[in-house]
Amino acid sequence: MKASLLIPAAGSGTRMGADIPKPFLPLAGEPVIGHTLRAFAEVEAIREVVVAVSEAWAPLVESQLRRHLPHCRHVLVDGGPERMRSVWNALQASSPDADVVAVHDAVRPFASADLIRRCLEAAMVHGAALPGVPVTDTVKRAEDGRVRETVDRSRLFAVQTPQAVRRQWLIDAYGKALRDGVSATDEAGLVEHLGRPVRLVEGDRANIKLTYPDDMAAAESRLNPQVPDIRIGYGYDVHPLAPGRRLVLGGVEIPHDRGLLGHSDADVLLHAITDAILGALALGDIGAHFPDTEAVNRDRDSREFVRGAVDLVRQAGFRVVNIDATLVAEKPKILPHVPLMRERIAADAAIGPDRVSIKATTNEKMGFQGRMEGMSAMATALLARV
Ligand code: MG
Repeated sequence: MKASLLIPAAGSGTRMGADIPKPFLPLAGEPVIGHTLRAFAEVEAIREVVVAVSEAWAPLVESQLRRHLPHCRHVLVDGGPERMRSVWNALQASSPDADVVAVHDAVRPFASADLIRRCLEAAMVHGAALPGVPVTDTVKRAEDGRVRETVDRSRLFAVQTPQAVRRQWLIDAYGKALRDGVSATDEAGLVEHLGRPVRLVEGDRANIKLTYPDDMAAAESRLNPQVPDIRIGYGYDVHPLAPGRRLVLGGVEIPHDRGLLGHSDADVLLHAITDAILGALALGDIGAHFPDTEAVNRDRDSREFVRGAVDLVRQAGFRVVNIDATLVAEKPKILPHVPLMRERIAADAAIGPDRVSIKATTNEKMGFQGRMEGMSAMATALLARV
């Protein structure tokens, strides 16, 4: 199949309230028509593109054609005052050997290659085809502000482009319409006037026509999704080991012949986690929020530090996404206590235990951890804006 793409791009941008006509407004770093043309690049049957455009915008269209459809023949023709005239100009300039012509709105940048192929193939088989989506809103017919009728919407479709027609059919349809003085807002309307059948194929709700300023904003965010506001934090802590102290790690008391020394309960793992959470929002460190010079923090349960940091996160409009931590300790065995640690940290951070990872390693008998003089811990925390 050989197909020609016809694009009327001579209209003004009056509904957008902009000086620049809609097809040439910038969208995600490129004019709208550039996105529209790119949609056709993957469709092998398209051999030629004819754009109806005013002289002022012709150089821009030419550069977009070269950029997105370099393998196609390019033709620019003058636009007319209405779409129908622009399409007629483009149709007359199209190659006579095209089996099918596809007329597409310049401001419909989200047509998928599948949708385009569906239309072209259906036109090849049936003569004329256009995409349509069922109307989901209730439809009323009204006059002078008064509702006259509720229309049965079960057989109503909102139609889109590309509208694909055998080239000779569309020439005949234009000939008859011009003779009869009939105008239509789309090509299918002319084919219907010719008395030929038009096939409805499945459209795509994403294939929107950019009409109003908020359509542009929606298209922009679709092409250029905002990076979510996420923050990562890192924490490190170390405490010496001493006899006669309780060993508390990850909020769990573990039987051992010595414990970590510190002003609070010296839970090195929770201190690293607390610093990671505070660090993600650049809120300083654990010492700034819970100074070891204050009596209130003496022997304090370090889970309160975690909860305090999570409170600050909440006040800043964030939430914890996940936590990953590693404890470096030669002894004792940590693994049996990990499930309870994860459960407690998860509860304090208001997340599920599947978002808390606790790992432990020895230091291979090297350094202060290897000599069992102390333990260290490292943690990362990811936060996201609520
Ligand atoms: Mg500490």
